[in-house]
Order: sequence, then C-alpha cells, then structure tokens
Amino acid sequence: MAFIDDYNFEYLKNEAETLVLKELSRQLEVYSTPICRCNDCIVDMAAMALNKVKPLYRVSLLGSFYTASAMDEKSYARSVREAVFNAIEQVKKNPSHDTAAAAGDEAAE
Ligand SMILES: [Zn+2]
Repeated sequence: MAFIDDYNFEYLKNEAETLVLKELSRQLEVYSTPICRCNDCIVDMAAMALNKVKPLYRVSLLGSFYTASAMDEKSYARSVREAVFNAIEQVKKNPSHDTAAAAGDEAAE
C-alpha cells in the first residue's frame, strides 16, 4: 500500500482557498466595470490569487486549535485582498480565451 493510502488526508484543508473565494466573490460583487464572468475566467482568477497568498493548511478536525494571532490574521487578510485584486485585473487584461468568445461583447474595449 502506498503512503497516501495508509493515512487519511481528507481533513487536510487549505484554508486560503475558502478565504480567496470569499474575497473574490466580494470584490466581483462591487466590481463596477464590465468583466467576463465565465467559469474559465473566474477559476483563473482564483488560481492566480491562490498562487500569490501563503498557503494556510489546517487539519479541519483540530481547526479551532489552529488560529493565527490577530496581527497575522490582519496582514493575511490584506494579502488575500491584494492577491484577489491583482488576479482580477490580470485576467481582465489577459483572459485565457478570446474576448470575442465571451458571452456578448459588452466587455469589448
Ligand atoms: Zn471569460
């Protein structure tokens, strides 16, 4: 049996993912200029932001034991906001598909 089958990694979670997705949804909600919101672009934004922020792995069973200090949380939240903001701009400027392929052409510049 392989190592990966010998142990249960099911509860190993990257909390950064939850925080980035929450922040992405929040920023897109108030995003004023037209932007493609197709699945490809949204998932791209999430991946890009997640590659910028420090991973925040925890074992979900022991979740409450793994709490960062208030200061860490504050600077972490800021890094998430910045990473998400930059990812949105990046994907907007350079979507992984033709802008013409996006639904409608409202995003045309
Ligand atoms: Zn798109």
